[in-house]
Amino acid sequence: MINDSNPILVKYLSLFEELLASDVYALEQSQKEALLLPVLNQLHQLHQQHCQAYQNIVDHHVGDAKKIDELPYLAVRLFKQLNLKSISDENVFKVLQSSGTTSQTPATIYLDKATSARQSKVLVKILQQTIGRQRLPMLIIDSPDILKKPEFSARAAGIQGLAFFGRDHTYALDENMQPNWPVIEAFCQKYAEQPVLIFGFTFMVWLYFIKALQNNGKTISLPNGILIHSGGWKKLIEQQVDNVTFKQTLMATTGISKCFNFYGMAEQVGSVFVECSQGHLHAPIFADVVIRDPFTLKESAMGETGLVQVLSALPSSYPGHSLLTEDLGILKGVDDCLCGAKGKYFAIKGRLPKTEVRGCSDTHSETSL
Ligand SMILES: [Zn+2]
Repeated sequence: MINDSNPILVKYLSLFEELLASDVYALEQSQKEALLLPVLNQLHQLHQQHCQAYQNIVDHHVGDAKKIDELPYLAVRLFKQLNLKSISDENVFKVLQSSGTTSQTPATIYLDKATSARQSKVLVKILQQTIGRQRLPMLIIDSPDILKKPEFSARAAGIQGLAFFGRDHTYALDENMQPNWPVIEAFCQKYAEQPVLIFGFTFMVWLYFIKALQNNGKTISLPNGILIHSGGWKKLIEQQVDNVTFKQTLMATTGISKCFNFYGMAEQVGSVFVECSQGHLHAPIFADVVIRDPFTLKESAMGETGLVQVLSALPSSYPGHSLLTEDLGILKGVDDCLCGAKGKYFAIKGRLPKTEVRGCSDTHSETSL
């Protein structure tokens, strides 16, 4: 059991405070790594000590990593297959389940109070850089029923996390996931002249809001609105909708010009990668990315598509600080984005087709790499 007198945990918590005190996007990559790497090394040690499964998987990695890309990582799908936690059962405060489809086992993430609080705090700190500090009237592109379901889904967690930034929370969809036009129109009338926040999952915003407006020949006017959306592009890419099309259609149907996607996962709630004014996803001080060649798993060169490894300084209750995702991404640059933010910036290019990383040859033809 982890307790407050555990020297590794004590050291982790004090190093983490330094991250919290730092500006989210101001440090150059080398300065940032000097702060972030020691935190990740402490988490590696902590989880080795308290999670037998993690220990078994990474036992050839002894000692501290000297560089971020040397840290061991877990395949993200392991959270669907194993109960990975570094706390005792009585310290489990919340169990988060990722929104798997019916054919898929959901990922299960165990949170203690400290990790959960850290996630909320960091999510707020990161998103305040984009949204600002004041609480805005908020239109949520979802059904209020999502919060009533007994299982605590990643979608519900996302809405709860973002709700902090809003007031007068208004749900745009009814229980059948259809636009609730009277509610939407009343919201637009009431707040037409002021900044508002709109939040939803990317595919739902597209299908049940933007396309629904278009298909019904409707437009609304929220010229001071900020849309924040997340949740993956897979379904939109299938419909050949890219970020540019998404933004243009949004502008045409709602007048919203401020639209920011963020990339994050249920296995690392809180440490999100938010799109900047230049359309790039940025790694905040609390997190980083490494792009890896899907076949060799070596770090890819800048501009080359590879698997995205995500690192997060947040999880102390489960070994999720270094994960190899099944997403494909591309590193766009380091320290030199025109928006002014330092550190790495990148883009997501879709998902690895349904196959294991280093999949067997009979599934290889499905990959388009
Ligand atoms: Zn930027």
